[in-house]
Amino acid sequence: TRSTRPQRLLKAVRKHAARGDPQSVISAIDHFCRHSEWAMNIGDEKGSILDSVVSELNPEKVLELGTYCGYSTVRIARLLPPGARLITLEFNAGYAAIARQVIAWAGLEDRVQLVEGASEDWIPRMKEHFGIETFDFVFLDHWKDRYLPDTKLMEDCGLLRKGTVLLADNVICPGVPDYLQYVRNSLSYKSCYFKSHLEYTKAEDGLEKSVFLG
Ligand code: SAM
Ligand code: MG
Repeated sequence: TRSTRPQRLLKAVRKHAARGDPQSVISAIDHFCRHSEWAMNIGDEKGSILDSVVSELNPEKVLELGTYCGYSTVRIARLLPPGARLITLEFNAGYAAIARQVIAWAGLEDRVQLVEGASEDWIPRMKEHFGIETFDFVFLDHWKDRYLPDTKLMEDCGLLRKGTVLLADNVICPGVPDYLQYVRNSLSYKSCYFKSHLEYTKAEDGLEKSVFLG
């Protein structure tokens, strides 16, 4: 049977990226997605915005919603300070299996905990299961109808503290109008938009950064 796109992406990583070199893993994936097959990674253009938010924040406890092949996981994890932890959630077992290998190829498996399952099931278990008090940074990039309910769930579970930063991808394309309306109008958030383009295209898309004010 024919291979899947994530399998072909992993093959490109093995062929073109150096083991233990996260930047070469990122470049190999971007090259594959620009020249061979589009894939739903945050990509290089929005990725550099993600990089600056992570670098500025220097977060120790990070949650990522939606791992896919581990591209953004590698981007975030490579910038984390020593001792920091990134938990990334993925409910598709096939994608999770690829992501584990991409993360390991980048040499980042010691900082990353890839958890298989649905965000709505795992968010309420973060405290008991992983000993997480609150997250410093949350990257939202799973299915778009879950951004708002999962944000409210994180609030209800006490996983956000004053100063926690939420960064949401694809707020224009495909778009998350209910989430944007919430974070932009709630007095509990200070929110701003970073204009960019949908991964590997010229279509407008962007990231919304929302600081939880408590
Ligand atoms: N963050 C990745 C990157 O930029 O490299 C891309 C993530 S992709 C856009 C979204 C992923 O979220 C898919 O792999 C999908 O299977 C996963 N997903 C969607 N809804 C989910 C949920 N409720 N819980 C866990 N994973 C979910
Ligand atoms: Mg995305």
